Amino acid sequence: MSRVYNFAPGPACLPEEVLKEAAQEMLDYNGSGMSVMEMSHRSQAFEGILAEAQETLGELMGIPDNYQVLFLQGGASTQFAMVPMNLSRIGKADYLVTGSFAKKAMQEAKKYLDVSVVASSEADNFTYVPDVKGLSFRQDADYVHICENNTIYGTRYTALPDTGSIPLAADLSSCILSGPIDVQKYGLIYAGAQKNIGPAGVTLVIIRKDLIQEELPAFVPTMLQYKTHAKENSLYNTPPSYAIYICGKVFQWLKKQGGLKAMGEINQRKAGILYDVLDSSSLFKGTARADSRSLMNVTFVTGDEQLDADFVSGAKKQGLVNIKGHRSVGGMRASIYNAMPIEGVQKLAAYMQAFEKEHAK
Ligand SMILES: *Cc1c(COP(=O)(O)O)cnc(C)c1O
Repeated sequence: MSRVYNFAPGPACLPEEVLKEAAQEMLDYNGSGMSVMEMSHRSQAFEGILAEAQETLGELMGIPDNYQVLFLQGGASTQFAMVPMNLSRIGKADYLVTGSFAKKAMQEAKKYLDVSVVASSEADNFTYVPDVKGLSFRQDADYVHICENNTIYGTRYTALPDTGSIPLAADLSSCILSGPIDVQKYGLIYAGAQKNIGPAGVTLVIIRKDLIQEELPAFVPTMLQYKTHAKENSLYNTPPSYAIYICGKVFQWLKKQGGLKAMGEINQRKAGILYDVLDSSSLFKGTARADSRSLMNVTFVTGDEQLDADFVSGAKKQGLVNIKGHRSVGGMRASIYNAMPIEGVQKLAAYMQAFEKEHAK
């Protein structure tokens, strides 16, 4: 067996320890004589798995009691619709457009609400996140939506917009658990699990309980109402049980690493290694503006498409896989989520430097 360093943006690499543990428990989970995949979601064993996952996440993120954690399906993309359908009161929302996911979320909300785009970096191909100081929002907006880490462009917010009493709804798909955050600053957080949490198939929602509305328009499907899942503790119907089980193991793994403060420091170091190479390179150029650089997705180009392709195929030969950039940006993207070991980042940095030497003009 030989494992590679997988820099994929999502589904992404998982901690090896977690995979090994899951493999060990594959045929017989905890004396049950069956795999978690084969287990009733109403069984005591699974209820224990769910409760432990919720508890560990709460502990890791410091989730206050007035928030509820939901494990849903449909990916982050379904949240693009659930957020406007469920948070609407008067029917107005403000969006910041900092990438293609943020834009998709905004466009989806437009189907239901009066949407105002308060800031956008689209004119510059989303190479930065606008300064949030001095932004103003419609005081009667039902919520403000941001995408905190822009997976495709390699940018992130370093400060949250001050929305006052307007709830902030945030897509944290590619940065959740990458460092400590203050959950109370958000009304709602959502994240597809397949980047920085666990396997594809489960979407995490953390919602302030007072935002879970009882009265929703008749057109909102039962399955797309937060209240449906909140009331039944994510067991209204069959949840993605195996994916939740793996997420729980990842939460435990994060605790063992020292929690989110420790992860934040490790992630700063990991990203720093690659940005240092970019900043001292005469061949590679980072595509994100320095003040908006993501710690999770590092995007760069050589400026020559053939060289980019050579770099990607050479990397693959060294076991550094999936570093081709998104088709809308080109070049390279190294996604270095929590589960990417620092050794993988160091190996990529060394390969970049060797490649540059080989191609020095
Ligand atoms: C990947 C991603 C999405 C889309 O997630 P799906 O789970 O595939 O729907 C949305 N937002 C961000 C920030 C992402 O990285």
